[in-house]
Amino acid sequence: TDVSLIRNFSIVAHIDHGKSTLADRLLEYCDAVAKREMKKQLLDSMDLERERGITIKLNAARIEYPAEDGKTYVLNLIDTPGHVDFSYEVSRSLAACEGALLVVDASQGVEAQTLANVYLALENDLEIITVLNKIDLPAADPYRIAEEVEATIGLDCTEAIPASAKTGVGIQEILEAVVKNVPPPPGPTGGPLRALIYDSVYDEYKGVIVYFRIVDGEIRRGDKIKFMANGVEREVIEVGVRKPGAYEMERLGTGEVGYMVCGVKNVLDARVGDTITSAKEPSEEPLDGYEEAKPMVFCGLYPTDAEDYEILRDSLGKLKLNDAALAYEPEASSAMGFGFRCGFLGLLHMEIVQERLEREYNLDLVITAPSVVYKARTPKGELIDVDSPFKMPDADKRSGTQEPFVRLEMLTPQEYTGTLMELCQSRRGVLMDMKFVTSARGSIIYEIPLAEVITDFFDQVKSRSKGYASMEYQILEWRDQDLVRLDIKINGEDAPPLSTVCHRDQAHQRGKVLTEKLKQLIPRQMFRVPIQACIGVKPVASSAIPPMRKDVLAKCYGGDISRKKKLLNKQAKGKKRMKSMGRVNVPQEAFMAVLDLG
Ligand code: GDP
Ligand code: MG
Repeated sequence: TDVSLIRNFSIVAHIDHGKSTLADRLLEYCDAVAKREMKKQLLDSMDLERERGITIKLNAARIEYPAEDGKTYVLNLIDTPGHVDFSYEVSRSLAACEGALLVVDASQGVEAQTLANVYLALENDLEIITVLNKIDLPAADPYRIAEEVEATIGLDCTEAIPASAKTGVGIQEILEAVVKNVPPPPGPTGGPLRALIYDSVYDEYKGVIVYFRIVDGEIRRGDKIKFMANGVEREVIEVGVRKPGAYEMERLGTGEVGYMVCGVKNVLDARVGDTITSAKEPSEEPLDGYEEAKPMVFCGLYPTDAEDYEILRDSLGKLKLNDAALAYEPEASSAMGFGFRCGFLGLLHMEIVQERLEREYNLDLVITAPSVVYKARTPKGELIDVDSPFKMPDADKRSGTQEPFVRLEMLTPQEYTGTLMELCQSRRGVLMDMKFVTSARGSIIYEIPLAEVITDFFDQVKSRSKGYASMEYQILEWRDQDLVRLDIKINGEDAPPLSTVCHRDQAHQRGKVLTEKLKQLIPRQMFRVPIQACIGVKPVASSAIPPMRKDVLAKCYGGDISRKKKLLNKQAKGKKRMKSMGRVNVPQEAFMAVLDLG
């Protein structure tokens, strides 16, 4: 394809503002035109897909658009993979584009992720086209929202496009704007092949499918290519584009976006951000890659049933093939048995992995509370990573502690500003900036420890603002803080998986909340169970679980057998996700108690 007829763009938006719906409409609009010419091929490729069992997911879609100027353009719509919560995921897609559609819900306005996405688009020098979506809604006010976009982001909105992804209003205008305003990719320089990997996905049948954008040169089926990061060479078995079904091509040229299959078995061998070059005539310099995704949140995963350890290990291995950002290493403790310490990009990533392990691999897991990576300074002054609270060295074995801070931005209707600031203040936040977006809405910026944000913080923001506030954060750096390790003793015995790290000033309060929560969450025993929170040997708070009074069966004396059985079964099930500590069975919920700070 002639480079001047190619346009590569992405769609960014705050969640629920209509990104996916708009993508569907754009595809539909162009299909309608292209169907007559390529109906047969399109259907073929779909059949092929079904046979090979590849799911048709919109990852990148190539659409052909006959523009008003009489020329037919190739538009590559690159979906931002994964959830927008991971700005990491968004930024790598943006690096493969020259333009971005910024979708703003015209009944809601600018939200925290709208801003975060715009910053990323600007960092990547993208041409931004603003779309004011959902104008079919009675509450939509595109003029006011356009002013809001200008005021907060500084984007000129005179050419913003009012649209409805629901009814199809404005779709053609959007396509015209893409053709006119998004610059075509730079043409070939005659140099060696260089293509940027922006995503790689493991497919059971084909192995790793590599998604790339060619920056220079071309890729043909049968070519010998090389991954620059590890020097691995492979032959291109299949190359093509997504429409959004896989569609094979003979070759792809400079500026084009596509996929290839080349016998790679592990996503780590075709790392996102790496450069593909020619094996015969390799480029000397790789393209600017991305920063490697660094796990920021860690938790312990343990099989409820010790016999499932092998299955858990194999399952993590399989997930890792698919997910380069997942980290794990074996961990064992006397309380929890054998399991794994796992690292994630964020809480959502953690939830997704847990859910997949439980659903796809049929595992019953006990999960310990997520924690950030702390740093401890040794007496010699060296900084070491501490990815698990109970591994924080004793006070006499360290000379300092650090924890990661984030820049947190919240957008909120003005009436909730006070309560949100109160929340941030109580979580050790430092106010950096506060401004009005409009007379009714404001933006608040805090620097705050990540550890505070991965607790119940998001729920608090939502409930305090009745759902109207939105938030987004970016990692800043590790900062010195006076941190302590708060240990929990159950029935006089240490329970390391329940240890937590917090600021010295919070230790007392946190100990109190935690011991009270545990008292409620741990089932009664035949004996009294004391629970203590300690710093070193010094208790800072305590509670006690009173002994059990009644037998469960006492409730249904005289009742029929089946009812009794049911009750016993129910009890057995409830017992499943537990680990025994200090002669007491600690249920799954208790491990998360530390997150719920009330
Ligand atoms: P995304 O999270 O940005 O991908 O948003 P979705 O495309 O999933 O849309 C979120 C919700 O808004 C869905 O219920 C859509 O049906 C709805 N929606 C999207 N565009 C429009 C629109 O133009 N008008 C109306 N009324 N609803 C829309
Ligand atoms: Mg969506």
